[in-house]
Amino acid sequence: MLELSTPVQYVKGVGPRIAEMLAAKGIHTVGDLVHYLPFRYEDRLNPRGIAELRAGEMATVVGEVRNSGLFRTRSMPIFQLTVGQGRARLRCLWFHATYLQDKFQPGQMIALYGKVEEDQRTRELQIIQPQFELLGDPTDSGENGAEKKAAQSLEIGRIVPIYEATGKLTPRWFRRIIRTALDNLTPELPDAIPAAVRAHMGLISPRAALWNVHWPEPGESLQDLQSSRTPAHIRMIFDELFFVELGLELKRRQQKAQTGVAFRLDDGVRAAIKKILPFHPTGAQKRVLKEIASDMEKPYPMRRLLQGDVGSGKTIVAFEAAIIAIENGYQVALMAPTEILAQQHYFSARRILENAGYRIVLLTGSLESDRKREIRRHIAQGSAQLVIGTHALLEEKVEFARPGLVIVDEQHRFGVMQRLKLMKKSGDSEEKDGATAAAEPDVLVMTATPIPRTLALTLYGDLDLSVLDELPPGRTPIVTRQVSDDQSSKVWDFVRKQVAAGHQVYVVYPVIAENEESELKAAIKMYRELSGAIFKDLKVGLLHGRLDADLKDQVMRMFQKGELQILVATTVIEVGVDVPNATMMVIEHAERFGLAQLHQLRGRIGRGAAKSYCVLMTGGKVTEEGQRRLDAMVRTNDGFQIAELDLELRGPGEFFGTRQAGLPSFRVANIIRDAQLLESAKREAAAVLAGPNAEISSEEISRALVQMRARWQHTYGLVEVG
Ligand code: ADP
Ligand code: MG
Repeated sequence: MLELSTPVQYVKGVGPRIAEMLAAKGIHTVGDLVHYLPFRYEDRLNPRGIAELRAGEMATVVGEVRNSGLFRTRSMPIFQLTVGQGRARLRCLWFHATYLQDKFQPGQMIALYGKVEEDQRTRELQIIQPQFELLGDPTDSGENGAEKKAAQSLEIGRIVPIYEATGKLTPRWFRRIIRTALDNLTPELPDAIPAAVRAHMGLISPRAALWNVHWPEPGESLQDLQSSRTPAHIRMIFDELFFVELGLELKRRQQKAQTGVAFRLDDGVRAAIKKILPFHPTGAQKRVLKEIASDMEKPYPMRRLLQGDVGSGKTIVAFEAAIIAIENGYQVALMAPTEILAQQHYFSARRILENAGYRIVLLTGSLESDRKREIRRHIAQGSAQLVIGTHALLEEKVEFARPGLVIVDEQHRFGVMQRLKLMKKSGDSEEKDGATAAAEPDVLVMTATPIPRTLALTLYGDLDLSVLDELPPGRTPIVTRQVSDDQSSKVWDFVRKQVAAGHQVYVVYPVIAENEESELKAAIKMYRELSGAIFKDLKVGLLHGRLDADLKDQVMRMFQKGELQILVATTVIEVGVDVPNATMMVIEHAERFGLAQLHQLRGRIGRGAAKSYCVLMTGGKVTEEGQRRLDAMVRTNDGFQIAELDLELRGPGEFFGTRQAGLPSFRVANIIRDAQLLESAKREAAAVLAGPNAEISSEEISRALVQMRARWQHTYGLVEVG
């Protein structure tokens, strides 16, 4: 009998060499193997009759090989195969497929899957490059008659699972080996999901789920199978999500049990906030500040994610929160992902906060070491109240006298919580002095990545969420157009008009300097062309990552003050940069940028009352996917819509940067497709941890927790929880 934890090489048919190939796929145990789910299913119980096929449909056809052969056309060799069912025939073609030459013999049964198309000239139906499987392949030697028959029964006359091949391991090989594993799997598969949860969700047993997900019953809906919505799929997906959510929920509870700073929020603090506000906050800003303030008053540490689209006004909210902490006698760290942004925050902090007498310092990697040392001393002594820097602040183990609040701006990746552990070190010295017991500082993470709310809530179960869903008043939507760069002279004319009207313009390039292989236009070269010829009479600046920090700073400041009219830049300006007078952005080679990146870039304009324009210039060939990105940008300014499409185009793994983020990479779940199940899992996990009660026994809870810990360690590869 096999257990789920049995190493995969104990499955009959898997030797050490194959075990190695499987390991490369992340399959180490029997459990991993049976969680390797089919990516589609073929209905070979009711395969399509050739006569009833329609052009345009995806179809499974089972038939007999009639004849085959290789034709050499002038452009390429084409392999042609004719398959028959009685008198009906269907032609299949493969391009460049000399390797198929001796593969087929008349009389063999074959299953084909592909898109049915109509031949332009003959009007006959055909399938181009179908996936195929020879049924009862006679080259499979060494099996006796009975075994062969059994094997064949897996291939035809049923709904057949199709697995992704890997190296030499074919879909058919997986089919047999997974079948063998299931046949020999121990009948006792304990179910660690409490009975009440199973009942709420209508979950079938783990064993039935494993079996049916690979070998669906004949009556199963093919559509449910393909969309992973059969009871078997749901059981497996929920199972995976439930234990992730259980872990997150536990973390969240542990956080609430820690000691934090209970900030006081009296009239004095309120007045101090009011005093610095340069404008009336939006309704959303007021609401969000309330949420943050009420967290800060609590005796446990705040862990809050503030989500707000580009330009929604997150900075001022951060400053308000900072004042609460400072007025209570604590220090605040504000961290930005780039030096440019840290600089910018430093200047606006000084503009907005310094009048009120707050002491603000900037600490970035590029400072002279003497200066750095001095600033660190101010921080350690507590005389610096607001410390602004890059995320490097964390790594550099800066010692704070009284850290109260940490704000992380423009956090696109979510691995930040782990790294915040470093921040804790700052409190250690205090503990030694015995001055105060080290309380955990509050943490506010700000992001423009618009993850759909429910998804954010469930994914970052250990964070609370606030959303700025309103833009400051008086903004007109940005007008976005796509043009080819052979129209560039018109675009430059328009740039001139904007400048003549007193506005400023960004021109963005994908690379800093040109190199021989790439034909991409580069910032440095185009800067010469634009400043030396096209806009000779205007003030043009250049900004890219390789400039030294002082120069970057100087250029940025000149642009901010309006001393430069045009800023030629790379994506260094992507996040956070705030120059409301800039009303136009030209992005060259826009087809090269990712969707999220384009949206962030465009977020640099449309920050004032004047109408803003974004021109997406394309140079060279635009791929189909590239065109979809550009279309989305032209169609909408809404970050949430853009994020949804981005998720769809890139898939959740890429989108969230799963690995760096320390998020689980799921085996069967897909957090986009399964967002609803994720929500249910979160709800059920919370209910379980709130127990025990009439529905859930304490024994069930501890069983679930044991299982959860095992999974967090082994399967998701996450750091241990609690
Ligand atoms: P983001 O959320 O992208 O960080 P910022 O905080 O940089 O946005 O704010 C964008 C611009 O809007 C800034 O110029 C800021 O001064 C301005 N702003 C923010 N809130 C308001 C408001 N309530 N009324 C008017 N202008 C505002
Ligand atoms: Mg910002």
